Amino acid sequence: MKRYSVFAVAREAMRQHSGWGRAWSNPEPKKSYDVIIIGAGGHGLATAYYLGKNFGITNLAVIEKGWLGGGNTGRNTTIIRSNYLQDASAALYEKSRSLYENLSQDLNYNVMFSPRGVMMLAQTQHEIRGYQRTAHANSLQGVSTEFIGPSRVKELCPIMNIDGPRYPVLGALWQPRGGSARHDAVAWGYARACSDMGMDILQQTEVTGIRQKNGNVVGVDTTRGKIACKKLGMVVAGHASVVAEMAGFKLPLESVPLQALVSEPIKPCMDVVVMANTVHGYMSQSDKGEMVIGGGTDGYNAYTQRGSFHHLEETVRALIETFPMVSRLKMLRHWGGIVDVTGDRSPILSKTPLGNTFINCGWGTGGFKAIPGSGWGFAELMANGESPLTAEFGLDRFRVGRFIDESVAAGVAH
Ligand SMILES: Cc1cc2nc3c(=O)[nH]c(=O)nc-3n(C[C@H](O)[C@H](O)[C@H](O)COP(=O)(O)OP(=O)(O)OC[C@H]3O[C@@H](n4cnc5c(N)ncnc54)[C@H](O)[C@@H]3O)c2cc1C
Repeated sequence: MKRYSVFAVAREAMRQHSGWGRAWSNPEPKKSYDVIIIGAGGHGLATAYYLGKNFGITNLAVIEKGWLGGGNTGRNTTIIRSNYLQDASAALYEKSRSLYENLSQDLNYNVMFSPRGVMMLAQTQHEIRGYQRTAHANSLQGVSTEFIGPSRVKELCPIMNIDGPRYPVLGALWQPRGGSARHDAVAWGYARACSDMGMDILQQTEVTGIRQKNGNVVGVDTTRGKIACKKLGMVVAGHASVVAEMAGFKLPLESVPLQALVSEPIKPCMDVVVMANTVHGYMSQSDKGEMVIGGGTDGYNAYTQRGSFHHLEETVRALIETFPMVSRLKMLRHWGGIVDVTGDRSPILSKTPLGNTFINCGWGTGGFKAIPGSGWGFAELMANGESPLTAEFGLDRFRVGRFIDESVAAGVAH
């Protein structure tokens, strides 16, 4: 595959861009693969990439019922941070954040990682205590965050009203190397690199059944026929329960819509990401100038990939007190995704009751930031049967009650 570089761009400019190849191939399915990954979202593609890069496993297919990156990976608001409370989470998310730092170079694809800084506002005394505790935990975990006061918040984000009548801004948990990246570029970059290693990405191919023999997986039924495999990874986010049911086991998950919206583009006015968990709203500005806005999940289970209008109204209303300028913005579009939420708000990266079958799900409202780290750890788990990054995130924690409680860090915002 042709490398992208300044020289390649210059060369192609001289010949009307006639020499670019396809970014990834569109092959017919083979009869069998060593590994099948179901789901070509960021997590599925990153798993495939690190299986190839770190373990030399390339006889692999990623099977996607729609188009790659068309699930939650292409629908999220792209916040990247690693300021989690529990050690296992901080290790996983910080691994991910640090991989994002050089992901464009690693994939030879510009994922537009922008470490512009993320702040989580403290708007109650309870939040001050909570975030100060997280800042202390983060310094022990080697995650660089600090608790900052209201004047520093205002300095970093001048458009914010810190003296709101209901919830004045009392401080914030600030992670200077948090930020955002372009979501679909992350999926495209991994897909291109996987295709370059000889892996097959089978789009428009739905998995409809899991084939098993003597307690082990032997393949999958798809809308393009049966495909055999020696190992299977299920990485289907909001549809994890549906695919697990095909394999004959249940998951401790709820699937709920989560929505986001963007405004019309405006001049640059905000160069940090701000999350306000008390009022359930967060905002950043995209490179195009749109204000990217999100809130909490809808209050019911669904698979519709859209959400209710009243929830949008609540989200915007919540933000207006802290960002009065939002009241004068026209909203351009909104959309929804289906997120899979666990009781302790931490993901599942685990072996399953079906032999040679692994599951990666439960990222809820916050899995975009985790794509590289999750792919890294889950690939190790699939290749070796264990990984230090995923050890705490097994399904058995729900049986024995060993929860990784991230309800403060992950329950609402991203
Ligand atoms: C509105 C919104 C905002 C968000 N904001 C953030 C944020 O700011 N920061 C953050 O870190 N996270 C955020 N998230 C969460 C994040 O998007 C997800 O956790 C993450 O993208 C999950 O990636 P994935 O690869 O697991 O799933 P997906 O990208 O959903 O990929 C799963 C794929 O599996 C495919 N699939 C399903 N069933 C089958 C089948 N039977 N056969 C074949 N293929 C199948 C689907 O079509 C899909 O493409 C947000 C989510 C939403 C919806």
